Amino acid sequence: MLVVMDQTTQYTGFPVRTADTVLIGHGLTKTYGPTLALGGVDIAVLRGESVAVMGTSGSGKTTLLHCLAGILVPDAGTVTLHADGAPVAVHSLSPGGRAALRRERYGFVFQQGLLLPELTALENVALPLLLNGTARREAETQAGRWLDWLGLEGMGQRRPGQLSGGQQQRVAVARAQVAAPPVVFADEPTGALDSATSEETMTALLAATTGRGGTLVLVTHDESVARRCDRVVRLHDGQVAHDGPTAHERPVPGAAPTGTQVSR
Ligand code: ADP
Ligand code: MG
Repeated sequence: MLVVMDQTTQYTGFPVRTADTVLIGHGLTKTYGPTLALGGVDIAVLRGESVAVMGTSGSGKTTLLHCLAGILVPDAGTVTLHADGAPVAVHSLSPGGRAALRRERYGFVFQQGLLLPELTALENVALPLLLNGTARREAETQAGRWLDWLGLEGMGQRRPGQLSGGQQQRVAVARAQVAAPPVVFADEPTGALDSATSEETMTALLAATTGRGGTLVLVTHDESVARRCDRVVRLHDGQVAHDGPTAHERPVPGAAPTGTQVSR
């Protein structure tokens, strides 16, 4: 699903909850000893949207992503996931609850694919489904579909070491999608790639996530990567310095005639 936002859409300031909101971070604060990593961040992410979180090194991007993803618990503030079913208060889950949330509702792509080197590409992609209790045969069938869709047909039996950096990232993209999580998080997914491979990986990640109605929250310090997303949130010293739509073109969803483009 592609989201079209009108000029008046408010992303920050509360209340922001609408039927289209999938993830809300409110007042997120995190310190490491004397370092203030996040100083009260508000962010609301819409269903089907792709959001790039930008900022210089040390501005709090990874900390924000980790709070939203239930990897870290903020010192103060709340994170609420409004996916299917009842809203989930991510910040107040137990460690086990957060692990289950990450396994069942979230997908992840990191800078280095973090694929398991001793497993084949197919086994790596199938893993989230296996962990969620899907039978191996079914899990591998679905994993194979994702590998094919991402242009990796015939490579399922290779181990990560037998794939190029770009191919490994596409395996990681497939693994992040296979269980159809409502939200996919990516932290510098193109950080270790050359510019052509970076483009290719972004195309795969965006098409795979938003193409099935999922939401993408991506951390990058690369403007060309951020421009591919619907919206950019810029952090400065742990605060939101800017939050607004990018200028790229988005197809109009729903009733609009096929092929109509809206310029932003
Ligand atoms: P970014 O991803 O934008 O580079 P981070 O969120 O990783 O920024 O870090 C924000 C700030 O918090 C930085 O000053 C960083 O040094 C500090 N920081 C991050 N993680 C830790 C940690 N585990 N221990 C101590 N300081 C940390
Ligand atoms: Mg970081």
